[in-house]
Amino acid sequence: MAEHTCDVTIIGAGTAGLAAERAARKSGATTRLIDDKFAGTVCATVGCMPSKLLIAAANAAHGARRADVFGGLCQVIILRREQHRRHHHAVNSAV
Ligand SMILES: Cc1cc2nc3c(=O)[nH]c(=O)nc-3n(C[C@H](O)[C@H](O)[C@H](O)COP(=O)(O)OP(=O)(O)OC[C@H]3O[C@@H](n4cnc5c(N)ncnc54)[C@H](O)[C@@H]3O)c2cc1C
Repeated sequence: MAEHTCDVTIIGAGTAGLAAERAARKSGATTRLIDDKFAGTVCATVGCMPSKLLIAAANAAHGARRADVFGGLCQVIILRREQHRRHHHAVNSAV
């Protein structure tokens, strides 16, 4: 079995693990990052970032639905993922 040596070993390549590794490297340490999946941080894949997108999209839809208050008329169409894919394909094919 190969032998690896390093100053700091970090278990978990999530937000905390990546920050810890960055800090350790910054102070000159050699590091090893261990993760059982390396599938992205919770923050980037299902947490902070996607939830902010959802909130932004919901706010935009709410604003559009209430546009008539200011005399505007705006129709909100909610496309599901497969519908969106087909719509996107149809628009691109037409161009
Ligand atoms: C819906 C949602 C919205 C959120 N919104 C916000 C927000 O707006 N602002 C905010 O500050 N926080 C938010 N959070 C919280 C934030 O996402 C988490 O606090 C943060 O991601 C935790 O980071 P972490 O590094 O501790 O864990 P994670 O990012 O989950 O990383 C843990 C890592 O450890 C690995 N691991 C686990 N077990 C093992 C093992 N036995 N061996 C090796 N590797 C292992 C995993 O594969 C993973 O890569 C939100 C969370 C959710 C779910």
